[in-house]
Formats: sequence, structure tokens, C-alpha cells
Amino acid sequence: MTETLDISITKNQNSRLTTTDFDNLTFGHTFSDHMFVADYADGEWKNFQIVPYGDISLSPAISSLHYGQSFFEGIKAYKHVDGNVSVFRPNKNAERFNKSAERLCMPTLPEDIFIQSILALVDVDSDWVPTKPGHSLYIRPFMFATDPYLGVSPSKTYKYMVLTGPVGPYFTKPLKVKIETEFSRATEGGFGYAKAAGNYGGAMLPGKMAVEQGYDQLIWTDSKEHAYMEELGAANVMFLLDGKLITPSTDKGTILKGVTRDTVLTLARDWGYPVEERRVSVAEVLEAAKNGTLEDAFGAGTAATIAPIGQIEHEGQLYTLSDPAEREFSQKVLKTLNEIRYGVTADPYGWNYMV
Ligand SMILES: *Cc1c(COP(=O)(O)O)cnc(C)c1O
Repeated sequence: MTETLDISITKNQNSRLTTTDFDNLTFGHTFSDHMFVADYADGEWKNFQIVPYGDISLSPAISSLHYGQSFFEGIKAYKHVDGNVSVFRPNKNAERFNKSAERLCMPTLPEDIFIQSILALVDVDSDWVPTKPGHSLYIRPFMFATDPYLGVSPSKTYKYMVLTGPVGPYFTKPLKVKIETEFSRATEGGFGYAKAAGNYGGAMLPGKMAVEQGYDQLIWTDSKEHAYMEELGAANVMFLLDGKLITPSTDKGTILKGVTRDTVLTLARDWGYPVEERRVSVAEVLEAAKNGTLEDAFGAGTAATIAPIGQIEHEGQLYTLSDPAEREFSQKVLKTLNEIRYGVTADPYGWNYMV
């Protein structure tokens, strides 16, 4: 890190900490007492502030509302067994944050400002980091355009903000997923690799239809043939096929390059598993499911953590996979990740940024 960021801190005088029910958390509904705000104007980032969480006032003409100049990140902070708090790999999110910014013609944010804003905010609200197993403090950095004009051109002013809130497990049972063969999330040449707000708006209808049909999630496939796996809702998808860890490659720009994905691939390589990042056909996965060589299948993401897939549907046929509780690889990944994140074991990779 370079120099320390000059952040003005206004403490919340009406803390909701003691009136918040940490035993009944719905993802994204509970916010900590403070938020981080910064402004971009005249070609620079300024006004770094931590203020009480609350509503903000904006022009109704801002282009983030009309033309989607808006994107976000998702990170988690964990309470260690010794009471310390760490944030998991925010440097990777800083990298992706700036890739999203560039694709949407928005200003980048220096990595040290991104990381310091998060560490400072989590420090102020460190009492909000849950202690229960499987729980964490979800961190939502985001940026949006604030020029009050309707012209379709890049805004000259922006806001960068960070919210946090305690969360429990995102999924509580193995997923029943559908392979999407009609709609697409992203196309080559598009912006699927950006965590852009627009990608999620467009994914809502297919997602809602899948839920109405009785599925928990859908697996996106390539937009040309719907023959290759892309990702699982808002998580990357991975398969252990005949002893090899296989995941769709991100080189076509249609897949969000997950931090969790990178984390799992790093662990797998270190454990000696062959790892393949390549095109993964729907046919080969279903064939493996049929002949019993599909040893593991799961989603990997910050919110979802490691989410086992229990059943996969494709064109009217439902495939039931092995019992997730018996799966060696994903169980070991989850256990190892938890031990590192909650400070139970050493962190040989330097993934934990201490608050
Ligand atoms: C956020 C996200 C992921 C997972 O990325 P992580 O960095 O692991 O949280 C995967 N796919 C999509 C579409 C996402 O939005």
C-alpha cells in the first residue's frame, strides 16, 4: 500500500447493532451502521468519507439509471477464531473492478484506494462481522455515473461507494439446476466479464422462469449453440470429471472471472489435481453423469461459496448426481477455505487482508 488515505469519518449515533437479529439474516437485507462514499470529478477521486448508512439524494437524470453506467463487486470479511477480522483477497476484486470500469467507459480506482476504503469501513463496523460458522460480512463496493444529463455519452462525474452487511449461507441445500438452452447472459464481444449492473437485469427473466419451473438456478451456456457450459447463475461452475478439475475458460470474455474460481483452481493445482480451463461441453458432462465418472459438480462464488449441484436438467431429462456429502473434492475445498478464512490454519497464500 502507498500513502494512507485521508478519510473523514462521521459516526452513526443510532447504531442498529443491538436490535439486529443475527440469527435470521436474509442475504442483502441487513446493512451495517456505516458506508463509504467518494466522488469523481475534474478527473480525480476525492471526498473520501465514512458516514452513517442511509439514503442519498441524486438527480433523476443520472446516466447510471438510464444507460447502465454502473457496476459492482462482492467480497467477504470473516471473524477469525482469535477475534481478528480479515477481508478475503480484495486485491483480486480491485483488479476486476477496474476491468469493469474500463469496459463501461468509467474511471478506474487505484488499487490502494479500493483496498483502504474497504479495510477502513470494515474496521469501523467490525462488530458487525458475524461469529457464527458459515457467516461473514458481505462487502459491496460499486460505482455509478452521476452526471445529471440524458445524453448517451460517458458521464464526467461518478460516485464510488461501499456497503456492508452480515450474511449467513446463501444456499442451504444442494442445487437443482437447469441448463439454459434458450436465453443467453453474455455474447462474445459483449461485457459478460464485467460485473456490470446490466448483466444482472438481463438475467432476471430467465432466472425467474427457471425458479417457476422448480429449479434453484440455471447454468448459462454459450450464446451461439447452447452447447458449452458458461456459469451457474452468479457463480462459476466446476466439475471433477474422472479425477480432473474442469471449468469453462474465460478467454472469450463471456464469463465472470471469479476470485473464488481462481482460489479453487490454485488449491486444486497445489493438491496435485490435473486442472483444465477449456470449453466444457454440456454433452460430456451429461455423459459423465450417466456413466458415473462425474465425481463432483459445484458452483464457486463469494456469495455462494462452494455450492454443490445435486441435480441437472437438460432438455426434459433430469440427472441426479452423487450425494454431495460424500464428495471428496468440494468438501475438502470448503473445509480448507473455511480454515483459512476463519484463521483456524495458516494462510500460506497471503489471501487474508487483516483489518
Ligand atoms: C460475482 C460473480 C461470480 C463469482 O465471482 P467471485 O469473485 O468468486 O465472487 C461468478 N459469476 C458471476 C456472473 C458473478 O456475478
